[in-house]
Amino acid sequence: MKKTSGIDRSITKKWRPATQAVRGGTWRSEHGETSEALFLTSGYTYDNAQTVADRFSGDADGMTYSRLQNPTVAMLEERIALMEGADACRAQASGMAAMTTALLCQLQAGDHVVAARAAFGSCRWLVDNLLPKFGIETTVIDSAVDEEWERALRPNTKVFFFETPANPTLDIVDLKHVCDVARANGVTTVVDNAFATAALQRPLEWGADVVAYSATKLMDGQGRVLAGAVCGSQEFIDEKLLPFQRNTGPNCAPFNAWVVLKGLETLSLRAHKQSENAMALGKFMEGRVPHMLHPGLPSHPRHELAMRQMDACGPIFSFVVEGRAQAHAILDALELIDISNNIGDARSLMCHPASTTHANMGAEAREEMGIPEGLLRINVGLEDIDDLKEDMDRALSAGGL
Ligand SMILES: *Cc1c(COP(=O)(O)O)cnc(C)c1O
Repeated sequence: MKKTSGIDRSITKKWRPATQAVRGGTWRSEHGETSEALFLTSGYTYDNAQTVADRFSGDADGMTYSRLQNPTVAMLEERIALMEGADACRAQASGMAAMTTALLCQLQAGDHVVAARAAFGSCRWLVDNLLPKFGIETTVIDSAVDEEWERALRPNTKVFFFETPANPTLDIVDLKHVCDVARANGVTTVVDNAFATAALQRPLEWGADVVAYSATKLMDGQGRVLAGAVCGSQEFIDEKLLPFQRNTGPNCAPFNAWVVLKGLETLSLRAHKQSENAMALGKFMEGRVPHMLHPGLPSHPRHELAMRQMDACGPIFSFVVEGRAQAHAILDALELIDISNNIGDARSLMCHPASTTHANMGAEAREEMGIPEGLLRINVGLEDIDDLKEDMDRALSAGGL
């Protein structure tokens, strides 16, 4: 197969992000198709025995089995790496497959991990339950207090793991500070960049080592498939991630990879327009809602830092009302915005984390993470902002606000 986008990556690498989003990683078959082809195949055939022997020995490039390589998945991986500014990327079956792979591929019994306390529920489960089960020590800190990272260091600390903005509290981690502390102490940073994506925030530019994704969210952007990705240096991907992935198989299905490739073409447009809508809706609600958790508003304790690290605020913010009854009343009065625990979609979606995504962890753990009973999280979509304001206005009134 010929890469008509330029066989030499030194050419494609020079393209600017908007160009990468629609062309990066494109390989064309002998048919010269415009849109990326979908290769639904688990295996490959060979012209002769030596060809396959050379591929297995690593002496020749080429596909051997779709747990190891697939052309559609490879196009997605190259496009994400180019957008991220990373040496390499490997697609995963889901965001959680990506987080699990990014951590387990480089950790072993006796190692220590420092993680942010505000995190996606399953990311906290990895830190609180899975890693300790395999003899990996973990410390959970308030990631918004810069000194806590250094304070939590131990001689055996191997990884800092965090997301920024964090789900669902919208805590912002100082990427430069935390990556500097990590570098100075030989620690690898693993950043979950699902809330921003490369369209709004590129952690590698601030010194991060590994960027991991739920591509289910903004990258797909239309709520269709589960997918994930891990980006890093060639050495990290080849020596740490690949041996783990090849032998455990958390791979992204070709169909899902193809859907995400299509999503990436419009990622930047969507991320910026949804951020614009999130700003307008946030301003409309401020003052009327008791407490806003919105990185785009000056009332956010780390607003300036967020705007320094990010090109725009992103489509997701949270706000806190009095309690569960009021939060549920607001959700039940929505006519346009859907009650849904998904994010990153072009549709506006709202959820109550304490009774859904963060219900299992119990009230005490939610308290520690900063998730009160009255917290509501919204993903602002691409609908007309006036329709969104009218729906929010009606729902807040119904909730007594
Ligand atoms: C959704 C999400 C995940 C998990 O991704 P899946 O694709 O659902 O497995 C991880 N981290 C963050 C921040 C998320 O929002």
